[in-house]
Amino acid sequence: MSLPGPFSDTALVEPRLRTEVPGPRSRALHEQRLRVVPRGVGSVLPVYIEHADGPWVTDVDGNRFLDLGSGIGVTTIGHTNRAAVNAATAQLDRVTHTLFTVTPYEGYVRLAEQLAARTPGDHEKRTMFANSGAEAVENAVKIARRHTGRRAVAALDHAFHGRTTLALAMNHKAVPYGAGFGPFAPDVHRVPNSYPYRDGLSGADAAARTIAYLEQRIGADDLAAVISEPIQGEGGFVVSAPGYLPALQEWCTQHGVVFIADEIQTGLGRTGTWFASEHFDLVPDLVLTAKGIAAGLPLAGVTGRAEIMDAPDPGGLGGTFGGNPVSIAAALAVFEELGDGDYFEDAVRIGAHLGTRLRELSARHPVVGDVRGIGAMQAFELSSPGTTQPLPGAASAIAEFAAQRGILLLTAGSDGNVIRFLPTLTTTDAQLDVAIDVIDAALRTLG
Ligand SMILES: *Cc1c(COP(=O)(O)O)cnc(C)c1O
Repeated sequence: MSLPGPFSDTALVEPRLRTEVPGPRSRALHEQRLRVVPRGVGSVLPVYIEHADGPWVTDVDGNRFLDLGSGIGVTTIGHTNRAAVNAATAQLDRVTHTLFTVTPYEGYVRLAEQLAARTPGDHEKRTMFANSGAEAVENAVKIARRHTGRRAVAALDHAFHGRTTLALAMNHKAVPYGAGFGPFAPDVHRVPNSYPYRDGLSGADAAARTIAYLEQRIGADDLAAVISEPIQGEGGFVVSAPGYLPALQEWCTQHGVVFIADEIQTGLGRTGTWFASEHFDLVPDLVLTAKGIAAGLPLAGVTGRAEIMDAPDPGGLGGTFGGNPVSIAAALAVFEELGDGDYFEDAVRIGAHLGTRLRELSARHPVVGDVRGIGAMQAFELSSPGTTQPLPGAASAIAEFAAQRGILLLTAGSDGNVIRFLPTLTTTDAQLDVAIDVIDAALRTLG
């Protein structure tokens, strides 16, 4: 178990605001930042963080926020988790970099073993490491193409796979990710997903629709890979209808198409299991990891069937910083922490508590049209009452209201009308209640 840091005390329930939000020091830093950082790099809430611990982030004005976003699902086992920090610190003292493709080191192998053991399926697996989720996506596409000798790739509506130019072609949302950044990579297609709240389709019917698109618009003979997030992250925590993903994977298997699960947001304990694929009985050919894998240090992985992963020739995969030893040391600590199972129980507890409280809100506030998610990945979608029409502006108004009360919330959804929760798994029910009460108050102001 992790050692407690100064603010890991679960008795600490309330945020603490010492100034307005953002405070004077954050505002001053923000002015300086705008002179040297392009505006294209935005910040959801420009409070400048000085330290972080457990579910708390404290800014340079001494304001302490309850962070229900975990840096978009990265600090899953808590900010500055001691086990990860200690492992990374010890590694820093030994070796910071050699480049695995020049002279290798043991940690890379040990972490690949962990991923082989923990990702779904007991087939033989290989793992390569990169620096970011988008890089994992890019490598997965390279590997699938090399293995199949086919060119096309299909992603789903409402998908998000990153910010490199190949990933931009795969994303659903043009603004702000893709607009003006084209031309985009060819042979990348988007096909309909399963979105039960909006399309009302069963898993089987939604899968039949997706497969019809794949067959009509691409054809299996040209299709290298289908990539899917088990639960769509930026798309608004869309959970597909039961049976949808297994049917899609089965079609892929029948046609020699590589099925890639982008578990970058859903993986590593977030949903109460090692990987969200487990909830859908999926055994993906390739599994992508990043975000939560190294407790905040940059690292990403592509794990998959040995025969697919071994398709590229020696030298075909790599990158200077990929599998950095310090990140790897932190990741090994993450696997050890998650391995004891307590965190999975916490993810289930958080999911049950948030789900119950959010459904209560939905019963009292007709704009809360849908509540969904698995484990510590919960969301609600805001719609015009009695319809599934997205309610514009409400989600960001709620997030702003909450920020003014020390609660850090993230929005999501292709229409920006979803509030998503990605709390650290150290977050207590009492802390969640503080946030839900604030959201309740925000919803009352919306009328
Ligand atoms: C965040 C994310 C990515 C991109 O990861 P980066 O590390 O930002 O490149 C890809 N896929 C999913 C599902 C994500 O949530």
